[in-house]
Amino acid sequence: MSLRDQWGREIDYMRVSVTDRCNLRCRYCMPHGIECVSMEEILTLEEYVRVGACAAALGIRKIKITGGEPLVRRGCCELIRMLKNTEGIEKVTITTNGVLLGQYLEELLDAGIDGINISLDTLDLDLYEALTGGGDLNQVLEAVRRTVTACEGRNIPVKINAVSLDLKEVAGQLGCRYEGPGWTELLELARRYPLDVRFIEMMPIGCGKQYRSVDHQEIERELAGRYPGMERDERVHGYGPAVYYRIPGFRGSVGLISALHGKFCCSCNRVRLTSKGYFKTCLCYEDGVDLREILRGGGSEIQMQKKLSDTMRAAVRGKPKAHCFEHPEQMTETGLMARIGG
Ligand code: SAM
Ligand code: SF4
Repeated sequence: MSLRDQWGREIDYMRVSVTDRCNLRCRYCMPHGIECVSMEEILTLEEYVRVGACAAALGIRKIKITGGEPLVRRGCCELIRMLKNTEGIEKVTITTNGVLLGQYLEELLDAGIDGINISLDTLDLDLYEALTGGGDLNQVLEAVRRTVTACEGRNIPVKINAVSLDLKEVAGQLGCRYEGPGWTELLELARRYPLDVRFIEMMPIGCGKQYRSVDHQEIERELAGRYPGMERDERVHGYGPAVYYRIPGFRGSVGLISALHGKFCCSCNRVRLTSKGYFKTCLCYEDGVDLREILRGGGSEIQMQKKLSDTMRAAVRGKPKAHCFEHPEQMTETGLMARIGG
């Protein structure tokens, strides 16, 4: 079974937010002072599995567990195990800020995780602390080291995701001293470890609107000048729209995810499930359907499964053709990234 939208795109990838809570307070995502929704409003593990099973029966093959910070959700690894055991689901991966990764690494591996993305925007201790609202960079770097060591032998891809911020500019905005080299410092992680480092253009969602993204064409030019032997890496690295490059002497690749300047909507393969059970078809618009209402609406298991399937299929058919981040006045999504599930 394959799931297609009205534009003929095959949709086989669902990003599932398991919580709106987070143990960091990244300025562009979930700064201090944001209230969390009550636990009753958030889907239970069983509800996620129900939706996952329906989605798999429709054609979803890959699931990314996200949040908020997914590892603060009790039972996150158990949910991963259950989704991995769901017929039709081929891959379950996670994106985490890395704070609890050291603690949960073994459980994640034991649950069968297929890929681990770690979000890390700077290697400067003070700027990291200021940008994340108190995060401890060394704790995350230790988790990176342990994760690559454990994953290398198991062939599980590890990626570092950095939002393409102008770090000097951000340091100025945050009143933080920063004389570092900027985004290039993060690249060194791909030289040192067998992991990919990816830069993601800042999207004008929630608090992200207040920060400027470095233009990826600028990054590409600088990369080409700095590493003359750099070449396009055509190998498949995941299920997303990143463009990858190989640099001689580097163990991992460098990826650019250019949602704004390299609009890739024509090959979009994804939908999202928020922690409140809202099934979203595009990050840019509030379009979607409330699956929680169906999950908690009563009726027999068969009736509920049918309703979930029909509702998801109809929502996917209506998936918008493209985002409109270049015209923020046309965006209808007003929520925070941490609440939508980045
Ligand atoms: N807490 C987890 C983490 O940090 O990986 C998962 C949730 S977080 C919302 C997922 C990713 O979204 C992070 O890499 C974060 O940097 C990114 N993100 C948040 N706001 C963004 C924005 N406005 N534009 C682009 N990426 C954003
Ligand atoms: Fe939390 Fe991830 Fe958002 Fe940072 S980017 S506040 S770690 S959800």
